[in-house]
Amino acid sequence: MVLAKRATLFEESVIRGMTRLCNQYKAINLAQGFPDWNPPREVLEAAKRALDGGYNQYAITWGSPNFRKAIARKMKNVNGIECDPEEEITVTCGATEAMMAAMLAVIDAGDEAVIFEPFYENYGPDVIISGAVPVYVALRFPDFRFDRDELRAAFSPRTKAIILNTPNNPTGKVFTEDELAFIAGLCQEFGVLAITDEIYEHILYGGRRHISIATLPGMRDRTITICGHSKTYSITGWRLAYAVAAPAITAGIRKIHDFLTVGAPAPLQEAGAAALELPASYYQELHEKYEGKRRLLLGLLREAGFEAYDPEAAYYIMTDFSGFGFTDDTEFAHYLVKEIGVAAVPGTSFFHHKELARTKIRFNFAKHDDVLREAGARLRKLRRA
Ligand code: PLP
Repeated sequence: MVLAKRATLFEESVIRGMTRLCNQYKAINLAQGFPDWNPPREVLEAAKRALDGGYNQYAITWGSPNFRKAIARKMKNVNGIECDPEEEITVTCGATEAMMAAMLAVIDAGDEAVIFEPFYENYGPDVIISGAVPVYVALRFPDFRFDRDELRAAFSPRTKAIILNTPNNPTGKVFTEDELAFIAGLCQEFGVLAITDEIYEHILYGGRRHISIATLPGMRDRTITICGHSKTYSITGWRLAYAVAAPAITAGIRKIHDFLTVGAPAPLQEAGAAALELPASYYQELHEKYEGKRRLLLGLLREAGFEAYDPEAAYYIMTDFSGFGFTDDTEFAHYLVKEIGVAAVPGTSFFHHKELARTKIRFNFAKHDDVLREAGARLRKLRRA
């Protein structure tokens, strides 16, 4: 056997796989979560200045001083978390690396990690690579609440961490203060860490408010908060994110991060700092833009015959396609790409208990309105198929 066991325990990413299939069939990509427009001009200009200005060698492993200082200001103003840029921030190559480094830093082989299901696809392999034993707790259709008794029962003396993702991909759920307080209570009762992916913190609908669990009483020192630039500034290809945690935890994350990647791209970190200086109007416009797209795609999907779950946040819509007579999500997703010309992500890729998602599929709406309308027109063909 050439491969190590760990490399055989999980599959390739279905999301990224759908993008490759989409490119092959020249379909519209409503699968992978990235926008089809350019980042803000100020951010692009800052990157060009950094490239011309000598920022072309390794940055300090845990992040350039400018970027970490800007992150500390943002964490205070946006998340309500005061943190020391010298000891509590690690800049990483995307939230993807931050999640992996965080888990590798705090989880021992055999520890249990609680994960809400459906979950962002990466957490499955992350947990396996870190050696954790995942314990799944359902976010239930249609409003993605969890059963508090079920969550309590998932905690045990073996639990090391709970993986949170709010706002959530793929459900669009925003965890409420009350829900977070319940989770925080369990974390303290069982001595558990919260590892929280907050990459969609700026994309919320209907006046909802994002709350970082680290701000709840007793949670500051037992939370690793992960935020990133990919979604907020439409720079998914730049690979910029950061993990914020107490000094002792950060020391572990930094060591793992150093030997995984040394550091995130130096010139882009300078531009990342500039992004954090954008005015409040930028975030208002971002919100309005996504609010319009959410409504547009929701209408188009319903018109086409999908049962669509209205997201509270992020830029995805989970749907049920039972109405079309298909019974397998992967088969349906392949049919959509090849015959209808639209790529989406099979629901089971977000679930451990695959039976919960055989008739579910997720669409992404970070696309120009005319692209969404064209996708809607193609999907309407399903009614006649
Ligand atoms: N976390 C969640 C919940 C996501 O949806 C995504 C991308 O879709 C990521 C992390 C990846 O973030 P990054 O580009 O910072 O690695």
